[in-house]
Amino acid sequence: MSRIGFLTLISLGIFGLFTAYLYTNRISDAPMTSEHNTEDMAFRSGAIVVGSGLAGLSAASQLISHRIPVRLIERAAKPGGNSIKASSGINGAPTRFQQIPDDAFFSDTVKSAGKAMASSTPYRENLINTLTNSSKSAVEWLVDEKGVDLSRVAQLGGHSIPRTHRGAGQTPPGFSIISTLLKSLKESPLFHLQTSCTVTKVLQAGSRVTGVQYICENGAEEEAHGPVIFASGGFGGDAEGLLAKYRPDLAGYPSTNDPRPGTQPLLTAVGAQLIDMEQVQVHPTGFVDPKDPTSALKFLAAEVLRGEGGVLLLNGKRFINELDTRENVANAITSTQPKSDSPKQWEVQLVLDEGAYNAAKSHIDFYIFKGLMKKVTIADLAPGSLETIKQYAEAVAGKHSDYLQRTSFANWSLTDPTEESVVYVGTVTPIVHYTMGGVKFNEKSEVLGEEEKAIEGLWAAGEITGGVHGGNRLGGSSLLECVVFGRIAGDQCAQYISAQEK
Ligand SMILES: Cc1cc2nc3c(=O)[nH]c(=O)nc-3n(C[C@H](O)[C@H](O)[C@H](O)COP(=O)(O)OP(=O)(O)OC[C@H]3O[C@@H](n4cnc5c(N)ncnc54)[C@H](O)[C@@H]3O)c2cc1C
Repeated sequence: MSRIGFLTLISLGIFGLFTAYLYTNRISDAPMTSEHNTEDMAFRSGAIVVGSGLAGLSAASQLISHRIPVRLIERAAKPGGNSIKASSGINGAPTRFQQIPDDAFFSDTVKSAGKAMASSTPYRENLINTLTNSSKSAVEWLVDEKGVDLSRVAQLGGHSIPRTHRGAGQTPPGFSIISTLLKSLKESPLFHLQTSCTVTKVLQAGSRVTGVQYICENGAEEEAHGPVIFASGGFGGDAEGLLAKYRPDLAGYPSTNDPRPGTQPLLTAVGAQLIDMEQVQVHPTGFVDPKDPTSALKFLAAEVLRGEGGVLLLNGKRFINELDTRENVANAITSTQPKSDSPKQWEVQLVLDEGAYNAAKSHIDFYIFKGLMKKVTIADLAPGSLETIKQYAEAVAGKHSDYLQRTSFANWSLTDPTEESVVYVGTVTPIVHYTMGGVKFNEKSEVLGEEEKAIEGLWAAGEITGGVHGGNRLGGSSLLECVVFGRIAGDQCAQYISAQEK
């Protein structure tokens, strides 16, 4: 091996190990338990946040900005939840990082929500208005107040304009955001994080929520008292529980989510309503690892790969506008015969040229390091691929319009493909990725009980909630909902505590 080749391998190895470290939740967090004992008195009149993903950390940050002490309870040994794995970015519009004026975020979100918009229309529109109207300030909060780099913007599937923000460097956006918020929270004496503790029950006095019961590693049952913000995530990783209950047809699908039980039942036990529980997002592209093709836990093939110009080929042919909604792209794949039933999976080739590779280099170098993608020539792809890629390159060059109505080709630069042209390829299959449904809440992040009445002392934010995305979440809108509704929950809970203190 040449010296340059060797050095490249070493540096890729280091990068890969670093990224693998991020992706496996190994965020530095010691010491975690009872860190600020001197504040314990204050915690009794503070707030409780359940879950340390982006929704939980956003809520906690906001509470602390109002000088409210926070006890954050997290079931995993390390904080960050699924949020820390987020790889494509967070939506915001209009922001100073966008090149094109953007007034279409609301309409894109409504369009993506699809048929679900026909029921509870004003309720859903209210939530979507809050989400999209607060998106600029959510991105600005992260960038200007917290110091997260979100200067690169890409166009993901279902968006009519590029609006998904990530950093210019190699650190994935989920990790950048979570590590920055966590670091700043840990600097506050008002923040108390308890990991390896699972909330098992919501406590009430009459209909008012007054705290939670939880169990930590030592098996002791404990109670925390105060108003509660639930930010405990979705149920995509609850394959045998809530997922099997609400979507038995998805049994056998691989997933990107950490395996853990959904927490919605803890809230229905205190009267919370559920909405859209059968709306589960099947992401069109999870990598089939050639080393372990039947693994049920898959790595996400980030949306940015298609966003930067990549195409999807099934038996050498494109079959869908790759930037169509996730639902439509996934449906186009699952309407064909699966390659395997256990797990239930398909074999689609995700192909990028050098131009798209360079734009998504940090992702692709990592995938190559992990053995999930390869650098090959077009001759190595399935028969018919050259013709397909030629046709695509002509559409990119404006020689004709794309026959699948794709209009944005981002950084694809291969204008004259031949059998020898270099491309980057990985095999992908649809995966369970996100649960749109959850507890019903409103634009104040209040959890709604019977007759749409807010349950006193209880708020929710992030993937545990339902109603915002209807039948299909736009890529980048989940991190956004965590920040928007997490911060609202923090503000509302702080107001509630202040009112009680008067
Ligand atoms: C691989 C991957 C990539 C993604 N990329 C993107 C992206 O680029 N952009 C985007 O917008 N979205 C993305 N998503 C979706 C997004 O990351 C999640 O929907 C979002 O982060 C959920 O955040 P959350 O705070 O609601 O929940 P989570 O981040 O999942 O956090 C919930 C936390 O609650 C804890 N918890 C659960 N139950 C209990 C309990 N009983 N007691 C105590 N703690 C509990 C969990 O352990 C977890 O830490 C991605 C998801 C995955 C899996």
